[in-house]
Amino acid sequence: MKNNYKVNSKLALFFVIAFSYVGLSQNSDEEQIKKLYDTALTEGSGYDWLNYLSNQIGGRLSGSIQAQQAVDYTKAQLDSLGVDKVWLQPVMVPKWVRGTPEFAYFETNPGATTNVAICAIGGSVPTPPRGIKANIIEVEGIEQLSSLGKDKIQGKIVFFNKPMDATQINTFTAYSNCVDQRYAGALEASEYGAVGVIVRSMNLRLDDYPHTGSMSYGEQAGSERIPAAAISTNAAELLSTSLKLNPDINFYFKQNCKQFDDVESYNVIGEIKGTTKPEEVIVVGGHLDSWDLGDGSHDDGAGCVQSMEVLNLFKKIGYKPKRTVRVVLFMNEENGLRGGNKYAEFANAKNEKHIFAIESDSGGFSPRGFTFESSDKDFEKVLEWKNLFKPYLVHYFEKGFSGADIGPLKKDGLVLAGLRPDSQRYFDHHHAENDTFEHVNKRELQLGAASMASLIYLIDKYGF
Ligand SMILES: [Zn+2]
Repeated sequence: MKNNYKVNSKLALFFVIAFSYVGLSQNSDEEQIKKLYDTALTEGSGYDWLNYLSNQIGGRLSGSIQAQQAVDYTKAQLDSLGVDKVWLQPVMVPKWVRGTPEFAYFETNPGATTNVAICAIGGSVPTPPRGIKANIIEVEGIEQLSSLGKDKIQGKIVFFNKPMDATQINTFTAYSNCVDQRYAGALEASEYGAVGVIVRSMNLRLDDYPHTGSMSYGEQAGSERIPAAAISTNAAELLSTSLKLNPDINFYFKQNCKQFDDVESYNVIGEIKGTTKPEEVIVVGGHLDSWDLGDGSHDDGAGCVQSMEVLNLFKKIGYKPKRTVRVVLFMNEENGLRGGNKYAEFANAKNEKHIFAIESDSGGFSPRGFTFESSDKDFEKVLEWKNLFKPYLVHYFEKGFSGADIGPLKKDGLVLAGLRPDSQRYFDHHHAENDTFEHVNKRELQLGAASMASLIYLIDKYGF
């Protein structure tokens, strides 16, 4: 009995030590991640940085004074974090200016007019100085143009009124299913002799804000380009109903936006050098430019400050990454992607080895998880970490789109990811006057930063 007891107790001691050792190594990831979340929620700087970007600088369209102020401000903040290196990467960007506020109305009978809220779509040509007035014809989407043909469209303004699909839970899917009318509507309608286009705003909610965004005329000659404007969802509904009662309605709009020559701007870059594998680079980023109507808080001030916060959190908890962790604030995502292309060009020219890049460009809402562009093998590895994110409700780990700015980096062996916040409210604000600071919740913003920092911590520690 006594002997047995001794043997058993030795055995027990062995198991206690063995298990606590295993427990310790698991715990350390859990503990490290908890420390990142705790620090983000209690000592993070992201919300204050966003406050400055939004309220002291404001909308940051490429080539604007505000965009340059944002470059200077974020560079100074990164400098003040005491990271190893901060620099500006020059890039030529397009400069488009909205001009004076747009004006529009529709006329059901001579003199019976109703004013509607519009805004020029980014990159549009202006109307003639006195505006355009013409018969307006509604279409459901670009697909419908060919069935109407030149007969019905020539000389008219085309009203694209395909709504975002309310049944899509991922609102980005609803967006991508109808954004072609904003991007290419003018080019397509002009082929049928249209004189202008009015596009229903990409917004799932009915409200009075017109939402801008980018468009393209492709290779079309300047003289053939027709002006394009977005109309608020409320006004789109009103116009559509009015057209059903009376198909013979005139629409008037006036805008004096202008495209200037390209100007020099910058990507803002900062990094913590890796201790043992400095040649392997991990990128975290968002885009510093925004549209001009709001202050670009969700799109994408949030992604920028969350990315800066990753370096800040590592500094604050004293974590020294093995690999180089680099924040990149890309310029000109909205109307050119010049910053993303320039960064990839630089990385390739210097033959840098990027192993992971993550972008936050879906708003500063509650994070739900990440989507990954990777090989099956790397994705399996990532899935092993999913449970570590359960306590934070950030365990949506799926394959899918990463981000526009990091897209040009894509190559075999590099894992790309996107932070995926809840998307239900994103398009209420996207590219509109109400994309403003008060619509960003501090805790939600900080949780997103902590989520990216935690994933980067794991990737830095274990690699692929
Ligand atoms: Zn964006």
